[in-house]
Amino acid sequence: MLPSRHLSSLTDIVEFPPLPNNLTWRGGIAYLDRDGVLNVGSENYINSVDELEVLPGAASAIARIRNAGFRICIVTNQSPIGRGLWDHQRLAEVNSALQTILLEENEDAHLELILYSPYVPWDNAWARKGNPGMLQVGRQIIDATESNNHISIFEYGIDYLARDEGNSFMVGDRIADMKAGLNHDVRTFRCDQKIGIDDVIERVLDFSDNGDTL
Ligand SMILES: [Mg+2]
Repeated sequence: MLPSRHLSSLTDIVEFPPLPNNLTWRGGIAYLDRDGVLNVGSENYINSVDELEVLPGAASAIARIRNAGFRICIVTNQSPIGRGLWDHQRLAEVNSALQTILLEENEDAHLELILYSPYVPWDNAWARKGNPGMLQVGRQIIDATESNNHISIFEYGIDYLARDEGNSFMVGDRIADMKAGLNHDVRTFRCDQKIGIDDVIERVLDFSDNGDTL
């Protein structure tokens, strides 16, 4: 069970916006959870654009991460689709609104790739965090886009061949996010869900700086 992708199919090649200051991408990916990281989360899900509240500092944090040379890959569990509460279109509206608000706050706050897992927990989907399926697919889509290659089939599952993840990292507010990051062999940062990514951005940037000098 593969993840879904905002507004595109997984194998589409959709050109990314340039990194700030025309930086060259060096292979690092910032895997970011959405709810409780970029926007205020809710136990009852974010069910519509009306319920979307972007956290202070989120746009700036994304811009700073991109300015450090990373591509952004959102990896978000969205089981309400599998539960039949709402459909892909409803989620697309929320994700598009999130991107619009972030760019209004900071013109560099692009989300290059948004992946989501529509499955319910009892599906045991590889795409659902704490499994690393979304990170595996995100790595391959970003690699293919950057090298202008076509993807026909994904390496996916427990036998996924480990890539050089460079100084990629995962930011989330829950244990499942940390598990997904660890299972994908990247550094993890857990933020306070009431603060979001601004809670850990200085640690993230310290880590990415140190990775550059290795
Ligand atoms: Mg979350």
